[in-house]
Amino acid sequence: MRQETKCIQAGYTPKNGESRMIPIIQSTTFKYDTSEDMGKLFDLEASGYFYTRLQNPTNDMVAAKIAALEGGVAGMLTSSGQAASFFSVFNLASNGDHVIASTSIYGGTFNLFNVTMKKMGIDFTFVDPDCTDEELEAAFKPNTKAVFGETIANPALVVFDIERFANAAHAHGVPLIIDNTFATPINCRPIEWGADIVIHSTTKYMDGHDATVGGVIVDGGKFDWMAHADKFPGLCTPDESYHGITYAEKFGKEGAYITKCTAQLMRDLGSIPSPMNAYLLNLGIESLAVRVERHCKNAMEVAKYLENHEKVAWVNYPGLPGNKYYERAQKYLPNGTCGVISFGVKGGRKAAEEFMKHLKVAMIATHVADAHTCVLHPASATHRQLSEEELVACGVSPDLIRFSVGIENVQDIIEDLENALSAI
Ligand code: PLP
Repeated sequence: MRQETKCIQAGYTPKNGESRMIPIIQSTTFKYDTSEDMGKLFDLEASGYFYTRLQNPTNDMVAAKIAALEGGVAGMLTSSGQAASFFSVFNLASNGDHVIASTSIYGGTFNLFNVTMKKMGIDFTFVDPDCTDEELEAAFKPNTKAVFGETIANPALVVFDIERFANAAHAHGVPLIIDNTFATPINCRPIEWGADIVIHSTTKYMDGHDATVGGVIVDGGKFDWMAHADKFPGLCTPDESYHGITYAEKFGKEGAYITKCTAQLMRDLGSIPSPMNAYLLNLGIESLAVRVERHCKNAMEVAKYLENHEKVAWVNYPGLPGNKYYERAQKYLPNGTCGVISFGVKGGRKAAEEFMKHLKVAMIATHVADAHTCVLHPASATHRQLSEEELVACGVSPDLIRFSVGIENVQDIIEDLENALSAI
């Protein structure tokens, strides 16, 4: 199946007389005929469901669809993108370990790594995604357990050199984890470029309709944990909480990572989405390919319009020829990048504030990457406590507008922009 077909059909094949849509198994628990039957599940001797905190059939159908879209072997839904980022790393690293991450990652992920996970004893080194080979080499330590980057960074729109970072990670015997939220598997499949694990905030394009917060983790199934057993004791030595099962031995390269994530982390931390939310996510994914194509087409037109506007100081969109990341985007995202653009209006903060007052089609929201066109002026919203100097220091210029182009008629979006720009 090609991507467009997988969006509709992967993950669930109804048998004779069964429902066309995935069933919503809205049940916390599952019944067994004998204690022995249930016991086998607890020993991971049989596969099946016993409690929705760990696993649910509706969720698994949707996770299987996303795994198919990413070209992975197994997937697990989480209740948010944050949970996906956390689980993806915590499944490999614990107290005393070290992880390398790109400096250009979503702010929430940066905070999770730099503050919360540091409190758990996991050390992070942040490297510029455009650092030299020497700088990247220097970041690795004997206790490094993973490398983490974002295909297209939110909000900086930096395109990550997946192949280069995958090669560096593998040379040090550790996997590369990629947050593929902005690109989606329609525009980029990081596993094909060497990434080992892919995560998403499905809250964005996958859901696509502002309906459900969620996340997903997909394993490419290629990383040989046993070949680096000393680095990954959690996967390669017996788990006493599962009667001494060694995940990498019992489930192999294809099954170890997601089985551990589900059986151990989901059991203990319980960040699972409700089956109803998984159902809504599935509904969104059915139109993902069509929507992403339209997002990119609209965004390209908007970016070109802005680039030629006399009241616009600068435009950042990796799909635009001349953008710093244009060449890299052509390599990794030849069919389009994403719908998110950032730009600056001439006249700085005051002009940007005035501009925001006149938008009607574009809605002011902290969210990005869904069907509705939304807009944010960070200097007067999310970053309003910061001074001009502090704004510049954290890469948010006072004139910066973050514009997430939706799938409305692009002429309506451009007319809305024209109206607001002419009011400055
Ligand atoms: N990763 C990226 C690239 C994001 O943009 C976000 C949220 O904006 C997240 C992760 C976190 O996802 P969530 O808000 O679903 O927890």
